[in-house]
Amino acid sequence: LPTLSLLYKLNRINPADGSEPAYTPNAIFNDKISVIKQDITTLSIDSIVNAANNTLLGGGGVDGAIHRAAGPDLYDECETLNGCETGSAKITDGYELPAKKVIHAVGPIYWSTKREGKHTSLLSGCYRKSLELAVENGLKSIAFSALSTGVYGYPSGEASEVALNTVRTFFEEGKADGLERVVFCNFLQKDEDAYFKNLPKYFPPV
Ligand code: ADP
Repeated sequence: LPTLSLLYKLNRINPADGSEPAYTPNAIFNDKISVIKQDITTLSIDSIVNAANNTLLGGGGVDGAIHRAAGPDLYDECETLNGCETGSAKITDGYELPAKKVIHAVGPIYWSTKREGKHTSLLSGCYRKSLELAVENGLKSIAFSALSTGVYGYPSGEASEVALNTVRTFFEEGKADGLERVVFCNFLQKDEDAYFKNLPKYFPPV
Protein backbone atom coordinates (compact mmCIF):
# COMPACT_ATOMS: atom_id res chain seq x y z
CA LEU A 1 0.00 0.00 0.00
CA PRO A 2 1.02 3.62 -0.45
CA THR A 3 1.84 5.80 2.53
CA LEU A 4 -0.72 5.15 5.20
CA SER A 5 0.16 7.95 7.56
CA LEU A 6 -2.96 9.82 8.58
CA LEU A 7 -2.82 13.57 8.68
CA TYR A 8 -5.65 15.91 9.54
CA LYS A 9 -5.51 18.67 7.00
CA LEU A 10 -7.42 20.31 4.22
CA ASN A 11 -8.35 17.81 1.60
CA ARG A 12 -7.51 18.50 -1.99
CA ILE A 13 -9.55 17.02 -4.83
CA ASN A 14 -8.02 17.44 -8.26
CA PRO A 15 -10.77 17.96 -10.83
CA ALA A 16 -10.71 15.79 -13.94
CA ASP A 17 -10.48 18.81 -16.25
CA GLY A 18 -7.39 20.31 -14.59
CA SER A 19 -9.25 23.31 -13.18
CA GLU A 20 -8.67 24.66 -9.65
CA PRO A 21 -8.75 21.94 -7.00
CA ALA A 22 -11.61 21.90 -4.52
CA TYR A 23 -10.73 21.99 -0.85
CA THR A 24 -12.99 20.64 1.84
CA PRO A 25 -12.30 21.03 5.55
CA ASN A 26 -11.98 18.39 8.25
CA ALA A 27 -10.98 15.48 6.09
CA ILE A 28 -8.82 12.59 7.14
CA PHE A 29 -6.26 12.47 4.44
CA ASN A 30 -3.45 10.30 3.20
CA ASP A 31 -1.91 9.72 -0.20
CA LYS A 32 -4.96 7.88 -1.51
CA ILE A 33 -7.87 7.98 0.90
CA SER A 34 -10.12 10.88 1.90
CA VAL A 35 -13.19 11.23 4.09
CA ILE A 36 -15.37 14.27 3.53
CA LYS A 37 -18.87 15.44 4.39
CA GLN A 38 -20.38 17.09 1.35
CA ASP A 39 -23.08 16.96 -1.33
CA ILE A 40 -21.57 14.44 -3.77
CA THR A 41 -23.16 16.23 -6.75
CA THR A 42 -20.79 19.18 -6.23
CA LEU A 43 -17.54 17.21 -6.61
CA SER A 44 -15.26 17.89 -9.57
CA ILE A 45 -13.75 14.46 -9.77
CA ASP A 46 -13.39 11.65 -12.31
CA SER A 47 -16.26 9.60 -10.88
CA ILE A 48 -18.93 9.60 -8.20
CA VAL A 49 -20.72 6.47 -6.99
CA ASN A 50 -24.49 6.65 -6.82
CA ALA A 51 -26.58 4.59 -4.39
CA ALA A 52 -28.96 3.39 -7.10
CA ASN A 53 -31.72 0.78 -7.14
CA ASN A 54 -32.17 -2.22 -9.46
CA THR A 55 -34.00 -0.22 -12.12
CA LEU A 56 -31.19 2.39 -12.42
CA LEU A 57 -33.98 4.81 -13.28
CA GLY A 58 -33.61 7.12 -10.32
CA GLY A 59 -35.18 7.32 -6.89
CA GLY A 60 -34.92 9.31 -3.69
CA GLY A 61 -31.92 10.27 -1.60
CA VAL A 62 -28.59 10.65 -3.33
CA ASP A 63 -29.96 8.97 -6.48
CA GLY A 64 -32.55 11.73 -6.91
CA ALA A 65 -29.99 14.43 -6.22
CA ILE A 66 -27.59 13.00 -8.83
CA HIS A 67 -30.31 12.71 -11.50
CA ARG A 68 -31.51 16.27 -10.83
CA ALA A 69 -27.99 17.67 -11.07
CA ALA A 70 -26.97 15.59 -14.12
CA GLY A 71 -30.08 16.44 -16.15
CA PRO A 72 -32.33 14.26 -18.36
CA ASP A 73 -29.53 12.83 -20.50
CA LEU A 74 -28.46 10.71 -17.54
CA TYR A 75 -31.91 9.13 -17.35
CA ASP A 76 -31.80 8.43 -21.09
CA GLU A 77 -28.48 6.60 -20.82
CA CYS A 78 -29.66 4.69 -17.73
CA GLU A 79 -32.70 3.47 -19.69
CA THR A 80 -30.36 1.67 -22.10
CA LEU A 81 -28.64 -0.33 -19.33
CA ASN A 82 -31.42 -2.82 -18.48
CA GLY A 83 -31.05 -2.29 -14.75
CA CYS A 84 -28.40 -3.74 -12.48
CA GLU A 85 -28.17 -6.61 -10.00
CA THR A 86 -27.86 -5.96 -6.29
CA GLY A 87 -24.18 -6.05 -5.30
CA SER A 88 -22.98 -4.79 -8.67
CA ALA A 89 -22.61 -1.50 -10.57
CA LYS A 90 -22.77 0.10 -14.02
CA ILE A 91 -21.10 3.24 -15.35
CA THR A 92 -22.49 6.23 -17.30
CA ASP A 93 -21.36 9.68 -18.27
CA GLY A 94 -21.80 12.55 -15.82
CA TYR A 95 -23.58 14.96 -18.21
CA GLU A 96 -24.23 18.25 -16.38
CA LEU A 97 -22.46 17.11 -13.22
CA PRO A 98 -18.94 18.37 -12.51
CA ALA A 99 -17.98 14.67 -12.24
CA LYS A 100 -16.91 12.99 -15.50
CA LYS A 101 -18.63 9.66 -14.83
CA VAL A 102 -21.32 8.25 -12.55
CA ILE A 103 -20.98 4.70 -11.28
CA HIS A 104 -24.42 3.43 -10.28
CA ALA A 105 -24.06 0.81 -7.55
CA VAL A 106 -27.01 -1.15 -6.19
CA GLY A 107 -26.50 -1.78 -2.50
CA PRO A 108 -28.40 -4.40 -0.48
CA ILE A 109 -31.48 -3.69 1.62
CA TYR A 110 -30.06 -4.43 5.07
CA TRP A 111 -32.67 -6.48 6.93
CA SER A 112 -33.85 -8.75 4.12
CA THR A 113 -30.32 -9.61 2.94
CA LYS A 114 -29.03 -10.04 6.49
CA ARG A 115 -31.63 -12.75 7.05
CA GLU A 116 -29.96 -14.67 4.21
CA GLY A 117 -26.44 -13.80 5.42
CA LYS A 118 -25.70 -11.96 2.17
CA HIS A 119 -25.57 -8.33 3.30
CA THR A 120 -21.79 -8.09 3.70
CA SER A 121 -20.84 -9.75 0.40
CA LEU A 122 -23.44 -7.75 -1.53
CA LEU A 123 -22.25 -4.42 -0.12
CA SER A 124 -18.63 -5.39 -0.64
CA GLY A 125 -19.48 -6.36 -4.23
CA CYS A 126 -20.73 -2.82 -4.88
CA TYR A 127 -17.46 -1.29 -3.75
CA ARG A 128 -15.34 -3.83 -5.63
CA LYS A 129 -17.26 -3.53 -8.91
CA SER A 130 -17.19 0.28 -8.69
CA LEU A 131 -13.40 0.25 -8.19
CA GLU A 132 -13.01 -2.18 -11.12
CA LEU A 133 -15.10 0.07 -13.39
CA ALA A 134 -13.01 3.09 -12.39
CA VAL A 135 -9.76 1.28 -13.24
CA GLU A 136 -11.14 -0.20 -16.51
CA ASN A 137 -12.18 3.29 -17.60
CA GLY A 138 -8.82 4.87 -16.75
CA LEU A 139 -10.28 7.04 -14.00
CA LYS A 140 -7.93 8.53 -11.44
CA SER A 141 -10.41 9.39 -8.72
CA ILE A 142 -13.63 8.01 -7.29
CA ALA A 143 -15.98 9.34 -4.60
CA PHE A 144 -18.35 6.92 -2.91
CA SER A 145 -21.63 7.90 -1.33
CA ALA A 146 -22.41 5.87 1.80
CA LEU A 147 -24.14 3.06 -0.12
CA SER A 148 -27.17 1.41 1.55
CA THR A 149 -26.98 3.55 4.72
CA GLY A 150 -30.07 5.63 3.87
CA VAL A 151 -33.46 4.07 3.20
CA TYR A 152 -31.83 0.64 2.72
CA GLY A 153 -31.05 0.70 6.45
CA TYR A 154 -27.46 -0.58 6.62
CA PRO A 155 -25.95 0.59 9.92
CA SER A 156 -23.29 3.25 9.31
CA GLY A 157 -20.55 1.61 11.37
CA GLU A 158 -20.90 -1.79 9.73
CA ALA A 159 -21.20 -0.25 6.27
CA SER A 160 -18.06 1.84 6.71
CA GLU A 161 -16.08 -1.25 7.75
CA VAL A 162 -17.21 -3.15 4.65
CA ALA A 163 -16.28 -0.17 2.46
CA LEU A 164 -12.87 0.39 4.04
CA ASN A 165 -12.01 -3.31 4.06
CA THR A 166 -12.97 -3.73 0.40
CA VAL A 167 -10.95 -0.70 -0.72
CA ARG A 168 -7.94 -1.79 1.31
CA THR A 169 -8.10 -5.33 -0.12
CA PHE A 170 -8.41 -3.95 -3.67
CA PHE A 171 -5.20 -1.94 -3.18
CA GLU A 172 -3.44 -4.89 -1.53
CA GLU A 173 -4.31 -7.12 -4.48
CA GLY A 174 -2.55 -4.62 -6.74
CA LYS A 175 -5.71 -3.97 -8.75
CA ALA A 176 -5.93 -0.21 -8.21
CA ASP A 177 -3.81 0.65 -11.24
CA GLY A 178 -3.98 4.38 -11.99
CA LEU A 179 -6.33 5.10 -9.11
CA GLU A 180 -4.90 8.08 -7.26
CA ARG A 181 -7.69 8.96 -4.88
CA VAL A 182 -10.61 7.23 -3.19
CA VAL A 183 -13.02 9.56 -1.40
CA PHE A 184 -15.67 8.49 1.08
CA CYS A 185 -18.23 11.24 0.63
CA ASN A 186 -20.70 11.33 3.51
CA PHE A 187 -23.79 13.46 3.81
CA LEU A 188 -24.81 12.88 7.42
CA GLN A 189 -22.74 13.31 10.55
CA LYS A 190 -23.39 9.71 11.67
CA ASP A 191 -21.73 8.39 8.53
CA GLU A 192 -18.75 10.70 8.75
CA ASP A 193 -18.33 9.74 12.42
CA ALA A 194 -18.28 6.06 11.43
CA TYR A 195 -15.47 6.67 8.93
CA PHE A 196 -13.44 8.75 11.35
CA LYS A 197 -13.77 5.94 13.88
CA ASN A 198 -12.98 3.04 11.56
CA LEU A 199 -10.52 4.46 9.05
CA PRO A 200 -7.42 4.00 11.26
CA LYS A 201 -8.31 0.31 11.62
CA TYR A 202 -8.02 -0.34 7.89
CA PHE A 203 -5.50 2.36 6.98
CA PRO A 204 -3.47 2.50 10.17
CA PRO A 205 -1.05 5.30 10.92
CA VAL A 206 2.58 4.34 10.31
P1 ADP B 1 -29.77 3.69 -0.09
O1 ADP B 1 -31.14 3.36 -0.68
O2 ADP B 1 -28.65 2.93 -0.75
O3 ADP B 1 -29.76 3.58 1.39
P2 ADP B 1 -29.93 6.62 0.05
O4 ADP B 1 -29.85 7.58 -1.08
O5 ADP B 1 -31.17 6.59 0.86
O6 ADP B 1 -29.55 5.20 -0.58
O7 ADP B 1 -28.72 6.87 1.02
C1 ADP B 1 -27.38 6.59 0.70
C2 ADP B 1 -26.50 7.61 1.39
O8 ADP B 1 -26.47 8.80 0.61
C3 ADP B 1 -26.98 8.03 2.76
O9 ADP B 1 -25.86 8.01 3.65
C4 ADP B 1 -27.46 9.46 2.56
O10 ADP B 1 -27.29 10.24 3.73
C5 ADP B 1 -26.53 9.91 1.48
N1 ADP B 1 -26.93 11.08 0.67
C6 ADP B 1 -28.16 11.61 0.44
N2 ADP B 1 -28.06 12.68 -0.38
C7 ADP B 1 -26.73 12.85 -0.66
C8 ADP B 1 -25.96 13.78 -1.44
N3 ADP B 1 -26.54 14.77 -2.13
N4 ADP B 1 -24.61 13.62 -1.48
C9 ADP B 1 -24.01 12.61 -0.82
N5 ADP B 1 -24.67 11.71 -0.10
C10 ADP B 1 -26.01 11.83 0.00
